[in-house]
Parts: sequence; C-alpha cells; structure tokens
Amino acid sequence: MPAIADRLNNVSISASAAMTQRARDLAAQGIKVISLSAGEPDFATPSHGVEAAHEAALAGDTKYPSMDGTPALKAAIARKFKRENNLDYDASQIVVCGGGKQVIFNAMLATCNPGDEVVIPAPSWISYADIVKFAGAVPVPVACPQEAGFKLRAEDLEAAITSRTKWLFLNFPNNPTGAACSRADMKAIADVMLRHPHVWIMTDDIYEHLIYDDFKFCTIAEVEPKLYDRVLTVNGASKAYAMTGWRLGFCGGPKDLISAISNVNGQNGGGTATIVQAAAAAVLDGPQDLLRERAVIYKQRRDFVLTELAKIDGLKCHKPEGAFYIFPSISGLIGRTSRGGRRIESDTDFVMALVNEHHVATVQGAAYGMSPFFRISYATSMEKLTEACARISLFCSEMR
Ligand code: PLP
Repeated sequence: MPAIADRLNNVSISASAAMTQRARDLAAQGIKVISLSAGEPDFATPSHGVEAAHEAALAGDTKYPSMDGTPALKAAIARKFKRENNLDYDASQIVVCGGGKQVIFNAMLATCNPGDEVVIPAPSWISYADIVKFAGAVPVPVACPQEAGFKLRAEDLEAAITSRTKWLFLNFPNNPTGAACSRADMKAIADVMLRHPHVWIMTDDIYEHLIYDDFKFCTIAEVEPKLYDRVLTVNGASKAYAMTGWRLGFCGGPKDLISAISNVNGQNGGGTATIVQAAAAAVLDGPQDLLRERAVIYKQRRDFVLTELAKIDGLKCHKPEGAFYIFPSISGLIGRTSRGGRRIESDTDFVMALVNEHHVATVQGAAYGMSPFFRISYATSMEKLTEACARISLFCSEMR
C-alpha cells in the first residue's frame, strides 16, 4: 500500500472522540451508557438561525462563498466584537472559517515555520498540540496546577518563552478545567507579553458566554490595547449558540495576519458554506437572552455535580468559573483496584474501568496533558447527571 505522510506520525486520534466511540459501542450492545465525554451543548440551535439558513437557501444564496466570509456576516462579527469585547475590527480584519478549529489550523499554517515554539497553558484542549505539530511547530506546555486554580501564572509563562516562541495560546474559560481569568490575572499575562514583542497571541474565546457567579469574562486585546497588533481573537458559534454541527468559527486580528489566514482558508476548504454564514449572522445579530438563560442552567448543573463529587472519597475538585467542564483529581484513588479487578495506576485506567464497569463515559486528564485527572462534561440533562454521579460514587466506593 502506498505510504501515509510522515507528518501524521505524531498526530493522535482525539481521546474524547475515542471515548465517545467506546460509549457508542457499548450502547450498540444494548447497554445504557451515560456520556459525559463530548464537549457539546445539549441545547438546540436558536430557531431564528435555522430559519435564516433556510431562507438563504431558498433565495438562491448557494454559490461559492468568498474565501474570507460574506460581508453580512463580517459586519455582524464586527458588531459582536464591539458590543461584547469593546474591540474594533473592520471587515479587512476578520476571517470566517469552518469552526474555531479551522481558524486555529489556518493561523498556524499561515505563520509557523519548522521548529517554531507555541506556548500552551496545560491542561489544554486536545487539538491544540496536534494542530501545532501539523504546522511543523513544537508545542511547549506550561502547567497551570490545580492548586493555582488551573490559572496561568505570569512567572511560569515568562520562563517558557524563548527566542523561538512564535505564539502563546490562551483559552479561558478553559477546556478541560473550566478555569477563567480575572482582569487582574489577564493584565499580569499581558505584562509578560509586552516584554516579548516577537510572540503572537491567539486567544480562543469560544467559552466566553459560559461563565458563572458574576465572574466577568475578559479578552487580552481589550485588557491591554498595546497588544492589539499581535493578538488573534478567535471565537465561534459552536458553544454559545449550540451550533457545533454547523461548523462556523471566526477571528479578528491585524490586517496582514488576517490576510495570510484568509489565503490559507481559500485553499483549505475555499470558504464557509453560505447558508451557515446566514445562520451565524442571524444568531449574532439576534436576541442574546438565550445566552444568559442557558448559563443559568449550566450553573445549576455545575453546582449539582460539584456537590455530588465533593461527597466522594478520593476525588478533589476545583470549582470552575466557566465552560461546561469539571476536572477532578483522582490522586486519592491511585493504587486501588476497581470492583471489576482493574488496578488504577493512571487516569486512563480510571476512565476505562468507569465506562466498562459502570457505563459512564468521561475523558482521562492525560489527553489534555495533565494527570491524574478526568474531565466531566456537564452539558447534559440533570436526570443524566444525577444518574452519572450516583454511578461514579458507587464506582469509587467499591474500590479496594
Ligand atoms: N476551542 C476549544 C477550547 C474547544 O474546546 C473546542 C471544541 O471542543 C473548539 C475550540 C472547537 O470549536 P469549533 O466547533 O468552533 O471548531
């Protein structure tokens, strides 16, 4: 068989996708699996978004799109950045892609040379390191420990930057920890970055609207305007508007960087589906009450799961400020054996025993670059969360 490219040698299959598959396999055997592994809202796409796509299709808006986004959507994105982030990006500073993931992929292809380093606070979303490797660059993780609330500490960031650093990635509220960043903490990060003008900053603000207890979201270009020319502000429709399947992401940034990203986007897909762009413009410009309403529901779920997990011996949780994830430590269970006879040497052992013996799918911390932890996504119903917490509790209490 002809060979596959070497560049795929270092790229892994996402552990959360692998766990979702394991849950599907068990379900196909008739087993009732509760899946807390997918990072996907369980809400519906707002109906005015669906209607806008339908109308666009009926009106014949079905020809090749421009490679950087439709003028109508770019105008809606510019309004969003101004309204929600106090950032001024005109149409030449915005690109629309097929998801936040494709924005980041295109940005790395547009800027990274072999051997460039990308500083990534860890734990982090599984795809960052793989995208960076795809682009020939080297991911450099910086630990954000549980004791520090999973925050990026300025001194750790400073120590990670070298003359080869090309990018710093920021993602607060964070996947997988849910940690968010206060304005003061963001300013401390910005102060470090002011000292290193050779480094771009990519801020992935995809969980911006999933934030609780009056915590205020902030984004680095707004906190430190002196960094504006070096910041790529990334966002998308997936998490806020429950539009994961539509594949719509966007970014704002300095003109030259945006035009390079747009260039890559033109070859990598050729632009985002026209009717998807119509839907995105409708939700960005439409009523925003649903964001607050849904955040209230996510907060109730977070509080419930935290309360239940706190009762379990061997687990230690940090209270996340945002996103829809909890990232408990299982250090208190290492060395024990599950009822099914699996010795728990790692978080991978833990999540595999949990899914096989009690049919709750979660993801091991190792997949996000920090062990021994596991990620729970609470983007599911209270009924399922109640059952899942009971099963996790039983699973842990049965360990010897
Ligand atoms: N960024 C982070 C931190 C994520 O967790 C995810 C999805 O899980 C994405 C980006 C992907 O977003 P999109 O669906 O817009 O590609």
